[in-house]
Amino acid sequence: MKVAVISFQGDVFEHIRMTRDAMKELGIEGSVVAARRRKDLEGADAAILPGGESTTISKRLRASGMDEKLRKMAGEGKGIMGTCAGCILLAKKGDDEVEKTDTELLGLMDMEIDRNAFGRQRESFETELDVEGIGSVNAVFIRAPAILRTWGDCRIISEFKGMGVAAVQGKLMALSFHPELTDDNRIHREFLRNASED
Ligand code: GLN
Repeated sequence: MKVAVISFQGDVFEHIRMTRDAMKELGIEGSVVAARRRKDLEGADAAILPGGESTTISKRLRASGMDEKLRKMAGEGKGIMGTCAGCILLAKKGDDEVEKTDTELLGLMDMEIDRNAFGRQRESFETELDVEGIGSVNAVFIRAPAILRTWGDCRIISEFKGMGVAAVQGKLMALSFHPELTDDNRIHREFLRNASED
């Protein structure tokens, strides 16, 4: 299995390390690569979109042609996980800020997000969350988005303060928070387990 971590911004190294550990623990053979160009996604079975600044990441995805390639991967039923800014980019519907900043979402998951839902209250915080299918996790939120509503096949699997903070749709997974900043790789394991299924 080849997993590509989009490496324009964010916790790229932490995602790579956590994915490698998770693969080892699951007994999945393969490689985890940092992807900066479209060709780095060639042959990838799964991709991870880290956090950062969604406007900047969206521009770089478009300039590199990786946006199209990620849409193609999703269409082929490959797994994509987005954390924080990555969660925003996976959504089909953004908020006013997404519109004002001309942020082009990948539009892969049937969900509407509020880009800075938690950021306005407090820049960053940690809390215990219950995630369906995984259990209790320690979640780190940094200027985090919320998933306001879902439709179609998209399903919220964790909530905080009445708002969605994790969702799945087939092999796509969106998280408002940063699992890569903890030492608990259960979310990465769940993503890989699901992504590696036929
Ligand atoms: N809210 C940020 C954005 O709009 C994302 C923050 C993060 O990824 N830590 O891009």
